[in-house]
Amino acid sequence: MQMLVFMLWINRKELLSKIKRRKSSCKTPIFFPLNSNYMVTKIIEEIKTFTEEICIKRTLKTIYAICLCTIEIHHIVCPSCGVVGEFIFWGYYTRMFVWEDILEEIRIQRIFCKSCRVTHSILLSCMVPYSRFSLSIHIRIVQCKDDQELFDTWYTIGCISFDRVRNIRSQYFKHWKERLTVLKIVFDERLVFRVFKGYGRQFMQIHATINSLV
Ligand SMILES: [Zn+2]
Repeated sequence: MQMLVFMLWINRKELLSKIKRRKSSCKTPIFFPLNSNYMVTKIIEEIKTFTEEICIKRTLKTIYAICLCTIEIHHIVCPSCGVVGEFIFWGYYTRMFVWEDILEEIRIQRIFCKSCRVTHSILLSCMVPYSRFSLSIHIRIVQCKDDQELFDTWYTIGCISFDRVRNIRSQYFKHWKERLTVLKIVFDERLVFRVFKGYGRQFMQIHATINSLV
């Protein structure tokens, strides 16, 4: 597992300038290459701390923008071919996400490996691939002990139907409960690291798409 080192010396002015430039560069047309079924996931906790240090409003959109400004794509090992330093930014697609009970549209950045010509999406560790609901929402739902607690949890979340809540819970029992038991993984701050290490994907990710933690 490779952890990227953040450049905490970047001051607020420089960062806002970078975000502005990044925003304008996002006007490039969306391009979908044939091979685009890979993902890299960035740990969100370090970025959240960074937003507090520079006193910027903490939304998922802001955190994602900071991730793109600080991520060193030239240091990322390609999950497809294992080569380092061949990634370039390569268009985007939009997704709706619910994070901290707020629904936001996020432009998911793609990166392209010049070595194997495979495209990857950059996600954050608070995101569950193929789901608009954040990892914390998934965890709150799957930890409910009975129907009453599930109903109470659903009532406090908002932005989600009760059918979807039940669906997430059934997906957990079908695909993940046994996996956690086998590796003795518990719901603590190491959950994401241990799931990625054991299964090469995000917790509650249903499809077996290659997903690498960076
Ligand atoms: Zn590659």
